[in-house]
Amino acid sequence: MIVTIESKARPCPGVDRAIAMAEDALRHGETVYSIGELIHNTREIDRLQKLGLIQVEYDAIKESAGNIKKFEGSDLLVRAHGERQPVIDEARGCGLNPIDATCQIVKHSQEMVEQHMRDGWRIIIVGQKEHPEVMGLLDRTNGNGSVISKSDDAEKQEFEERSLLLAQSTVDPELFSQARRVLSKKLSNLKIIDTTCRFLRTRQKDIEAFSLKQDVVLIVGGKHSSNCRLLHETARKFNICSYHIESPEDIDWSWFDGKKNVGITGGASTPRWQMEEVKAYLENRSKDKNPEGLKNRKGGLFLWWTKRKSPKMK
Ligand code: SF4
Repeated sequence: MIVTIESKARPCPGVDRAIAMAEDALRHGETVYSIGELIHNTREIDRLQKLGLIQVEYDAIKESAGNIKKFEGSDLLVRAHGERQPVIDEARGCGLNPIDATCQIVKHSQEMVEQHMRDGWRIIIVGQKEHPEVMGLLDRTNGNGSVISKSDDAEKQEFEERSLLLAQSTVDPELFSQARRVLSKKLSNLKIIDTTCRFLRTRQKDIEAFSLKQDVVLIVGGKHSSNCRLLHETARKFNICSYHIESPEDIDWSWFDGKKNVGITGGASTPRWQMEEVKAYLENRSKDKNPEGLKNRKGGLFLWWTKRKSPKMK
């Protein structure tokens, strides 16, 4: 088995920055909180929690509103995909000091929404309603925003003529293009800003090329990561033997029967150590099952030879 990690696989700049900011604050001995998952990778969050990061739910902040003593002097790391402004205000009211790890691309979308709201535009966002980034953008529309989550939403929903169309950074670019096509015909005064993340668009192309060269593709990353799901869908279009795993425990050894080249890659929130871990696991396990020199994983050649040379059972 030849195991290769895709050379271009790495966390995106926004996730890299959020992790670095968390590590930096923790290194300085601060008490650091995050509301919900800082990034969509449970195992990396576990690692940060072992360093001291504390994950709280928004309800805990809300219940403590005005109770400065509970959180006073601690930091609140605002996640890479942004946060709603009232949440940040309430956190301040609890004595938390927000550290803004919002990715610059998401920040740009937030600014575009705020600016266009001031100028009287309506806002249409292509993305998932429950995604923190979309919730943060919607919150800035003061109730004058709509969300397109499915392919037929653009056709079915009613929109104001003077609208700004933008996207959740991690949304499927195909869904955004489709909404753009439909709404361009439907609305007379539509302004479009493509806020899908360029890093992710490039990664889609990388995955296409990488998947074609492998017999099996493993996409390592959080089960809740929409980006990993999208990469998995793309990989499967080019290589049916593509699997999304979170850790080595998810591996099914039957995936590799009769296969030689195994490619490992990861999503925007997958740190390098998780891909290295899967590589080491595959290599060690395949060595255990295949002592040096026996290339056939089922022991075919070796067994065939020993069977012929073995004395017959009586
Ligand atoms: S995926 Fe793109 S938009 Fe999202 S955090 Fe990473 S760099 Fe920023």
